[in-house]
Amino acid sequence: MSLHHSGNAIRDALSRPLKDLRISLTDRCNFRCKYCMPKEVFGKDYSYLSEEETLTIDEIVRVTRILSEAGVHKVRLTGGEPLLRRDLPEIIHALASLPGIDDIAVTSNGSMLTPKRAKALKDAGLRRITISLDALDDTVFRRMNDVGFPVNRVLTAIESALAAGLTPVKVNMVVRRGFNDTEILPMAEHFRGTGVVLRFIEYMDVGNSNGWKLDDVVSASEIYDTIAQKYPLVPVAPDLPGEVAERFAYQDGAGQIGIIHAVTKPFCTGCSRLRLTASGELFTCLFATRGKPIRAMLRDGATDEELRAAMTGVWKARTDRYSEERNEQTVHRPRIEMSRIGG
Ligand code: SAM
Ligand code: SF4
Ligand code: SF4
Repeated sequence: MSLHHSGNAIRDALSRPLKDLRISLTDRCNFRCKYCMPKEVFGKDYSYLSEEETLTIDEIVRVTRILSEAGVHKVRLTGGEPLLRRDLPEIIHALASLPGIDDIAVTSNGSMLTPKRAKALKDAGLRRITISLDALDDTVFRRMNDVGFPVNRVLTAIESALAAGLTPVKVNMVVRRGFNDTEILPMAEHFRGTGVVLRFIEYMDVGNSNGWKLDDVVSASEIYDTIAQKYPLVPVAPDLPGEVAERFAYQDGAGQIGIIHAVTKPFCTGCSRLRLTASGELFTCLFATRGKPIRAMLRDGATDEELRAAMTGVWKARTDRYSEERNEQTVHRPRIEMSRIGG
């Protein structure tokens, strides 16, 4: 029986239980989304992790197994671009075999999700996938990913995911003023009635590279109004407490959308997520400055008990509530980049 059902999840200093683990499988990506890995910073001189520095499948599974005994039951695999890892199906298979893990998801830019790979992920035990797509207009999308990647190939990837049964397929759209805010309605129209759940994400001030300004954020309420003016929406009750997306259904029955209001309505109170980077550092917040490195322990013969103590200690000491503090913030702290922590 997984421990979350028995309420044994460890709690942090603000009494929040540990439930989710988000694993960044690689810090590399084939896109250069301006809000995440801008070319000027992530150019050819950027030093990525070597293979030796990147956690192996066995190390990832060991960390997850120990954390599953402390409350984690849901895992999201992200990056960088997780499909750059050829061993992704093996990772999924191994994680899906852990008794405490009852939900595994992947977030991908979809650029490499062929029908064959979608099926391999499904066969490995993946049930659902989230694909990021910031615009339907090809010119806008190419400008957003900044490597000239065409929109039709991501649309094909979404089809492949649906065909493989990786449902529900969710599509993430980060909305940035002046870049793709004109795409809110076309995206909503495109995915209405398809079974795909489109989720709009407020542009966040993650990392140090994207030059974030509050003016760039299109608020959840503005996104809501843009859609609801044309297609009336009704609120949907959350499935789980602490769900990050506010969900709405089209009144005419054409499906659901989600809006993730990380900036205008922070959800730190319900935040139950721990993050593991590809280099083996644990972060207790998307906006943290420093993580807890555990790779050396993994490689220097630490016992499960020692690892458990180190990892649960990180959670128990956790006081993060960055998004709630954002407005009070006056000093700029350096932060980890999104491509390392994985969103
Ligand atoms: N490469 C994969 C992808 O793009 O789906 C997975 C990693 S990406 C860092 C995970 C998610 O974070 C994506 O949906 C991406 O759009 C989102 N993201 C990246 N930078 C962001 C930002 N500054 N604000 C809000 N969301 C962001
Ligand atoms: Fe790559 Fe995803 Fe970041 Fe875009 S958002 S640069 S696809 S990691
Ligand atoms: Fe969780 Fe940190 Fe985001 Fe708050 S700011 S919801 S603590 S990751």
